[in-house]
Amino acid sequence: MDHGGRVERAFSVAGDLLLGAACPGCGRAAVGLCPGCRALLAEPEPSVTRPEPCPAGFPPTVAGGPYDELLRNLISAHKERQAWLLTPALGRRLARSLAPLVDLAGPGQVRLVPVPSSTAAVRSRGRDATGAIAHAAAARLNRERRGHPIRVVRLLRPVRRLADQSDLTETERHTNLAGAYAVRRAGSADAAARLIVVDDLVTTGSSLTEAARALSVAGLDVVGAAVIAATVRHSGPRTAARLSDR
Ligand SMILES: [Zn+2]
Repeated sequence: MDHGGRVERAFSVAGDLLLGAACPGCGRAAVGLCPGCRALLAEPEPSVTRPEPCPAGFPPTVAGGPYDELLRNLISAHKERQAWLLTPALGRRLARSLAPLVDLAGPGQVRLVPVPSSTAAVRSRGRDATGAIAHAAAARLNRERRGHPIRVVRLLRPVRRLADQSDLTETERHTNLAGAYAVRRAGSADAAARLIVVDDLVTTGSSLTEAARALSVAGLDVVGAAVIAATVRHSGPRTAARLSDR
């Protein structure tokens, strides 16, 4: 056996591990989320948010804070690079947005309904990122609260292939999502529960509006929506750039 070769290989593996040990929030050397990013993530107070312009039927929505660079890095690492170690931290942030809505819902049964990703997106990522964050948030709230356990139910499914929302203008987003979600048959306990729609982000409000609309049309009771972060809308250069793209 070539001892030297084995040692070399062992060092190379250690090197890969060290190089890979960067905080997904700031890129500094750390295993997982560094303490600084963890503190920043817990800093903002959740607040009621409304997109501008606000689509008709937009549900009362609580956001965990602004969609800043930290959140952009974390949500993208979680969704696109399968950084599942971030699920509990993002779930904690979502739980903070959910708390006032759970209070508003009152003492009955509460269900969290994740906005569905397109089936193709879930297949390529191997896991439903939003659903995983919803489960982590529910687990956290259930540890903190008495009363009926809060459960996650996937009552919504996409009825057709959706274009990636991030590539679309605001008007295109509304059109892309009109009638986009179908409601699965709810069990009797779920049908009687108060529902909170959950998603990672709110931008134009199209997804949350369409999700709440589909559930309400099916006769279900939607209290509101909770998201991890809300984007700050830029109506200046970005819109101009989009218009000149045409
Ligand atoms: Zn960090």
